[in-house]
Amino acid sequence: MKTQKATVKDLLQSGDCNQEVEIRGWVRTKRGNKQVNFIALNDGSTINNIQIVVEMTNFPEEMMKKVTTGAAIYVKGLLVESAGSGQSHEIQAKELVVLGEADPEKYPIQPKKHSLEFLRDVAHLRFRTNIFGAVFRIRHAMAFAIHQYFNDHGFYYLHTPLITASDCEGAGETFRVTTLDPKNPPLDEKGEVDFKQDFFGKATNLTVSGQLEGELGAMALGKIYTFGPTFRAENSNTTRHLSEFWMIEPEMAFYDLEDNMDLAEDFLKYLIRYALEHCMDDLKFLSARLQEEEKNKKAEDRSMELIEKLNFVLTHSFERVSYTEAVEILMNSKQNKNGKFQYPVSGWGVDLQSEHERYLVEKHFKKPVILTGYPKEIKAFYMKQNPDGKTVAAMDVLFPQIGEIIGGSQREENYDKLVNRMKEVGISTESMSYYLDTRRFGSAVHSGFGLGFERLLLFVTGMGNIRDVIPFPRTPKNAEF
Ligand code: ATP
Ligand code: MG
Repeated sequence: MKTQKATVKDLLQSGDCNQEVEIRGWVRTKRGNKQVNFIALNDGSTINNIQIVVEMTNFPEEMMKKVTTGAAIYVKGLLVESAGSGQSHEIQAKELVVLGEADPEKYPIQPKKHSLEFLRDVAHLRFRTNIFGAVFRIRHAMAFAIHQYFNDHGFYYLHTPLITASDCEGAGETFRVTTLDPKNPPLDEKGEVDFKQDFFGKATNLTVSGQLEGELGAMALGKIYTFGPTFRAENSNTTRHLSEFWMIEPEMAFYDLEDNMDLAEDFLKYLIRYALEHCMDDLKFLSARLQEEEKNKKAEDRSMELIEKLNFVLTHSFERVSYTEAVEILMNSKQNKNGKFQYPVSGWGVDLQSEHERYLVEKHFKKPVILTGYPKEIKAFYMKQNPDGKTVAAMDVLFPQIGEIIGGSQREENYDKLVNRMKEVGISTESMSYYLDTRRFGSAVHSGFGLGFERLLLFVTGMGNIRDVIPFPRTPKNAEF
């Protein structure tokens, strides 16, 4: 039984020529003359097209007119080694069927340079361009590699809920989930919306992070990870924020901050190595495209070539620095003194902005940085309190071009300290009783982190806008498709 239809990738890799093959795909370009036409055909299996050679006398002219950019066609013919330069194989067409036409007057993706902004407006068709083909094949490869890594390292994939009743983390503004009539919601004695009458009998929202539930799993299964969508209704219109993004959150019992940092570094390097080993064709394409863009920049503004940058991260150990040291470096930087930061660093205690993170990585240390020991005021309640009473055992991994790519910490395992902190910041211990049970029964040192999947993809693909590494971006005022 033949289980698979051959893809362009198969045919281009195939050693045996002079055999009859069948292929289906979409026309990228067609060129030629009255005698012979050359069709570049792509089926999404690879960045590379296969060339179809059509002797025009063998095919009706009317049909060949319908072979235009974007049309779906079927071809049967002889696979031969190509005489022309630029490709290894080509197909000499014996049969050609137009499966689906694409009217050149109306089809938006024509063989010319389209801006990424334009392609975002036709995001339902942008998969058909080289650039988005490359990005989404890499996205797939990275998702696969993430599961591979954790499976190989004894982690269990835990599915945490998307609908939750807790926003205790304060990680971001939430999206409410309700079935109440927005025009006429039931009210309580105080005149406020009575969520007791809502679908779940309480106010619920979409999750901002699977971590709290992840901890529950880790405190029994040992090592778990979540990998799913998270939702933040934050109105931050940046190139690094989405309202719906995918997060990878490992959580490990008996891991302290040091173990956590080791894991984060090893994991990121594994993923980058995986991309270099499995996605080279796509990376080369993206790199060439970036090089083209870089030409327009001043020499000092040009960034490292994509593949070189990925290798650079692989071969350097991440610099581990305390928040306190980082703030000193920033305060003493020329950038800060000359007022070049949009948000000046005024002293210990300030939250670091992406411009500060990037300065540390790109200008000062010139490699990825892991910052630890943040002031407790700017971090979440569940982070392990350090003996100094001021800082917590947090760790953020900072990358060139991106800034924060990972946020994590050792968790506070001491029941009393955790409860005190919750009271200080005004989180109800009652509604979080389930979470506190892990500290009541068999509590132990444990740690974890969150990696934003799209931030990883920004780094690996070199794309500049997070909207271009997720198939259907959700951002403020945009939920098309
Ligand atoms: P930032 O300061 O950049 O907003 P954060 O401190 O809110 O990040 P965390 O709550 O620690 O981020 O989330 C863990 C990781 O999830 C981050 O390191 C980042 O990679 C990613 N992330 C956070 N918010 C977003 C977002 N809105 N869109 C895409 N990825 C995000
Ligand atoms: Mg945030």
